[in-house]
Amino acid sequence: PRKPIVIANWKLNGGLDLICTSVASFIGKHVDAQIAICPPYLYMRDMMTFLQFSELQIGSQNVSRYESGAYTGETSAQMLKQAGCSLCLIGHSERRAMFAENNEGCQIKVRTALNHGLLPVLCVGENQAEREANITEEVLYKQLSEGLANIELNGRDLCIAYEPVWAIGTGLAATPAIAQSVHQYIRAELARIFDADSAARVRILYGGSVNKTNARDLLLQEDIDGLLVGGASLDPGHFLAICEQA
Ligand code: 13P
Repeated sequence: PRKPIVIANWKLNGGLDLICTSVASFIGKHVDAQIAICPPYLYMRDMMTFLQFSELQIGSQNVSRYESGAYTGETSAQMLKQAGCSLCLIGHSERRAMFAENNEGCQIKVRTALNHGLLPVLCVGENQAEREANITEEVLYKQLSEGLANIELNGRDLCIAYEPVWAIGTGLAATPAIAQSVHQYIRAELARIFDADSAARVRILYGGSVNKTNARDLLLQEDIDGLLVGGASLDPGHFLAICEQA
């Protein structure tokens, strides 16, 4: 049995007010799932100071592939860990499309995250043209086999987030059936890359226009172990309603 996980990705949104109201909305609420919020880096410390009141975790939206040195604008896995981060997103489609991230860089980031005790959440997914051309599996094959090349888990946790680019911010979430069939493919690939036991342990999240109305049916699918929520996570009540279904 895989513990459900729900992650909020605030992207370049939110501020101190949203940190306060989001953390406050979880006070006194019991949720079974592992819940994390990925705010912009600048707000992690502020969020940390509130966390004694809840079981929420902090995640980062990115991590440097470098450990330290002359890399202007970067934040290392060790720094994130020290700031109280539990997990980090790696290779989000917006980073791939707008900041030229590639599979090789993702692989280095996954390795760095694992080495520093951060749970890596490797994001994969096809865009609309790729889906229409019927090459979804080829795209995912490349993202997974290159992004996880020569990685050894040795019992450490890993998450994969399937985020079809055509579903991100469009209001057009994948149907539970489509998402399930892709998640099943991803798990089969993980078994090939690692082994069957490891593949059975990796949690695979769905992301792309998740809201409180479609969350439950997505989570009911056998290979959907969690959700990665963008827009709907910017409304604390809405995000809590999603988390309560996991
Ligand atoms: P939306 O939930 O806004 O579609 O964003 C999904 C996403 O990119 C989360 O990482």
